[in-house]
Amino acid sequence: KSAVFLKFPSEFPIPGEHFAIQTKDLHVSLKNNEILARNLYFSLDPYMRGRMNDAPSYIPHFQLQKPMSGYGVAEIIESKNPAFPVGSLVSGMTGWEQYSVIPEGFTKLLRVLPKNARESKKIPLSAWVGVLGMPGFTAYSSLKVIGQPKTGETIFVSAAAGAVGQLVGQMAKKLGLRVVGSAGSDDKVDYLLNELKFDAAFNYKKNGTILENLKRHAPEGVDIYYENVGGETLEAALECMNTHGRIIVCGMISQYNTTEPYGIRNLGHIVAKRITMRGFINDDFAKDYMEDFVKDVSAWLEADAIIYKEDVEDGIEGSLDAFVGMLKGKNFGKQVVKIADL
Ligand code: NDP
Repeated sequence: KSAVFLKFPSEFPIPGEHFAIQTKDLHVSLKNNEILARNLYFSLDPYMRGRMNDAPSYIPHFQLQKPMSGYGVAEIIESKNPAFPVGSLVSGMTGWEQYSVIPEGFTKLLRVLPKNARESKKIPLSAWVGVLGMPGFTAYSSLKVIGQPKTGETIFVSAAAGAVGQLVGQMAKKLGLRVVGSAGSDDKVDYLLNELKFDAAFNYKKNGTILENLKRHAPEGVDIYYENVGGETLEAALECMNTHGRIIVCGMISQYNTTEPYGIRNLGHIVAKRITMRGFINDDFAKDYMEDFVKDVSAWLEADAIIYKEDVEDGIEGSLDAFVGMLKGKNFGKQVVKIADL
C-alpha cells in the first residue's frame, strides 16, 4: 500500500481526490547498491503540502501518479548495498508506503540508527523522525543560528505545541529565556504551561485578537519571534518586537492552504526596530550542527531533560486524514504514522 499523489490542490488536499492509498503487488529485483526497506514509521510534515504545489521551490513537487516520499524509519529487509546490511534500522528519506525500494542516489539521505535503537526505552523509533529527526534539528539549529538567544530575553513561539514549537520552547528555557507560546486549543495551552513549563501561553482563537493576547502575555515585548504560522500572528509579533529583535522564519502554515494570502500591514517595524528577519531550510545548518544536535538531544532524552508529545496514527489507511488533520491543527504534538511493528 502506498499514498499516491493524484492532483495538485489549491486549498486543503482532499483524500481520494488529490492523493489516495493504492495497493499494488511488490515484485522486487534490486539493482546494485539498491535496498528494500520495510517502513515502520512515516512522518507527516507541513512542508509536504508545499510539495503538492505545481510551482518551483527548494524541493521538487511530488510526481503525479507516484507514491509520495518523506521522512521515515525503516528496517532493511533486502540489500545490495554493503552500507545498509539486512536487519539494520535506518531513518531519513523513505516512502509514504509499506515498502520502499531506495535507489542508489537516495541512500545518501538515509542514516543507519545506532545498534541500541531497537531496545532503547528512552528513545523510541518514532523519535528519529521527531525530536531526534528533522523537526528537532530544525528547532535546535535555527534557534541558535538565527535566534542568537541571550539569557533574560523573551521569545514568542507560535504553533508552540507542535513538533518544532514544543522543542524550541524547551530549548529556549534551558538557555534562560522567558518563553511565551501560542496554540490553537486550551488543551495545548495547558500542555505548554503545565508540562513544558512555558512562562506564558495563550489560545490564539480566544480572548480577543492575537495582538491583544500577545501584548498581555509578553508585556515587556518580544526579543525573538519563532515564526511557524505567518498571517495575523506575524503581524502581531512585528508590533510587539523589541529593538534589534530577531524573527526566525521557520514556516507560515496559515498560508499553505489558501488562495487568499494574508497581507501583512506593518512591515515598517522591521526598519524602525532594526529587526533581523531570516528564513531558512533546516538542511542549511546540517553540516555545522547535526553532530552537536544528535549528541545534545540524545543526552537530554536519556536524562529526561526534554519531553515531547507525539500523535501517532496507527496504520497507513488513516494517514491521509491524519495529514489533513495536521494541517488544520488536529494533531497534538509531532504527527507520525505507525506503518508496521518492528
Ligand atoms: P506542527 O506539529 O506544529 O503542526 C502544524 C500546526 O500548525 C498545527 O498543529 C496547528 O496548531 C498549526 N496551524 C495550522 N493552521 C494554523 C493557522 N491557520 N494559524 C495558526 N496555526 C496553525 O508542525 P511542525 O512543527 O512540523 O511545523 C511547524 C512549522 O515549521 C510549519 O510552518 C512548517 O512548515 C515549519 N517547518 C519548517 C522547516 C524548515 O526547515 N524551515 C522544517 C520543519 C518545519 P494549532 O492547533 O496551534 O493551530
